Amino acid sequence: MRGLMQGDHLLISSLIEFANKNHGDSEIISRRVEGDIHRSNWATIYKRSKQVARALDRLQIAAGERVATLAWNGYRHLELYYGVSGSERVLHTLNPRLLPDQIAWIIDHAQDQVVCFETTFVPIIKAIHANCPHVKYWIALCEEAALPLDPGLPKVISYESWIKAEEGGSYTWPQFDENTASSMCYTSGTTGHPKAALYSHRSTLLHAFSTCQVDVFGISARDSILPVVPMFHVNAWGLPYACAMAGAKLVFPGPGLDGKSVYELMELEGVTFAAGVPTVWQMLLNYMAPLGVKFSSLKRTIIGGSACPPAMIHAFQENYGVEVLHAWGMTEMSPLGTVCTLKNKHLKLSSEEQMKVRLKQGRALFGVEMKILGDSGEELPHDGIAFGDLYVKGPWVIENYYRNDQESPLVKGWFPTGDVATIDPDGFIQITDRSKDVIKSGGEWISSIEIENIAMSHPSVLMAACIGVAHPKWDERPVVVVVLRPETKLDKADLLGFYEGKIAKWQVPDDVIFVDGIPLGATGKMLKTKLREQLKAYSLPTK
Ligand code: ADP
Repeated sequence: MRGLMQGDHLLISSLIEFANKNHGDSEIISRRVEGDIHRSNWATIYKRSKQVARALDRLQIAAGERVATLAWNGYRHLELYYGVSGSERVLHTLNPRLLPDQIAWIIDHAQDQVVCFETTFVPIIKAIHANCPHVKYWIALCEEAALPLDPGLPKVISYESWIKAEEGGSYTWPQFDENTASSMCYTSGTTGHPKAALYSHRSTLLHAFSTCQVDVFGISARDSILPVVPMFHVNAWGLPYACAMAGAKLVFPGPGLDGKSVYELMELEGVTFAAGVPTVWQMLLNYMAPLGVKFSSLKRTIIGGSACPPAMIHAFQENYGVEVLHAWGMTEMSPLGTVCTLKNKHLKLSSEEQMKVRLKQGRALFGVEMKILGDSGEELPHDGIAFGDLYVKGPWVIENYYRNDQESPLVKGWFPTGDVATIDPDGFIQITDRSKDVIKSGGEWISSIEIENIAMSHPSVLMAACIGVAHPKWDERPVVVVVLRPETKLDKADLLGFYEGKIAKWQVPDDVIFVDGIPLGATGKMLKTKLREQLKAYSLPTK
């Protein structure tokens, strides 16, 4: 028997309609490439996103066609989020930190018809436009007067003039099937060509509902939210959608991601909740510590994308009274899978025991199912000890990649995350490694994340990466590559001694390599593939 409830489809346009009607005066603040701080609100974003939709009609971009963005976090990008997807086109966010050749490959693979770019990225457009035969329009996110005039550019339209032409016109969002594609994002592709996750209106809305829950982002109309995590990578963890659903104020950092710019913006706009990867928060903490300044409004920060070092959780909580929510997810999961919020029973634990829980990546959101499998495909117990390959399923997990000419990545309906994890009886996962980074020593596995976390809890260590090096007897042994904090000293023996009592003796790294920097990928994560390449000539010390 069919239920007798209204079957309206879950569409992204309903979010901006809602935000306009109920939270029209909630502010949208953006630091711009123009150098100033721009003030808008949900009502204006609503109006201008409809202008975007009409302007796309005028260019005769059909439903389902891809409209790409190469842009920082800001109000114009937000208008494109709603104008493009709301009008049944597909928003394709491009990562400007990739190499120009990779960006051109991605634009070509997605067959983007329009590319909207920030003027900061003129050098990229110059380098790639000749290799993008499908692109019909290049739109610069600026006023007519600020149009870049470089002769190496193709014909460029000013975004402001383009949408101004639609001022005063009316527009009704089209209604269509909620399984229609809404946006796409290519994974960084550390191996092989990048692959695209193609999100739907339904998956995006369900993800937004779930992330708004109290034990997840727990955001409200009273919050002022700073997504430092980029809108060009997995939709800034869905915050542009969740904030419309909650009616929250949004504060966009634009290109200003250094500690000083982020701190000043937080203080200026009363930011209560922020989201980002550990490398960005490290820059913020490094800026604040020597000045002795504090946060006056920030209450919670969500940290994910790579493992959050204990020292960072500790610094936020003990020095600044800010709660850290450790989260895990991936492009293929829209991206959120788990968030670490404590249960009542954890509140009774000592602070040391509590920290052990906080270091975990947390428990699944409603909607995400998880399991871990052993080497022969057997399901492993959720006892917090057994670790294996982590598989997930759910309505915002991919079924297949866009234009994938190989088999679907799913195994019996489950998506293999490529991560190795434990799951405890309360459902908290702990990621021990990417499966390709696991260190196998004498038939046992050593967690590189654990080795890194210990090193990073040493006061002199700024960053640490642990990799396995071939060993004739043990197969592989761990070494830890370390960047020291400025003006600190540490010798190998001291750091190796620091591991004593914290992990089993055989897990302690064989060596410490001090370097000036660790290569980072396009999403701010340590690039261990590159690090291994750099250390090709390295051999373990003979004992
Ligand atoms: P890519 O880096 O390929 O662009 P994603 O940004 O989707 O891909 O990254 C997903 C991966 O990042 C996860 O599979 C996991 O390995 C890692 N990751 C994300 N969050 C965490 C976390 N909190 N702790 C450890 N690893 C994490």
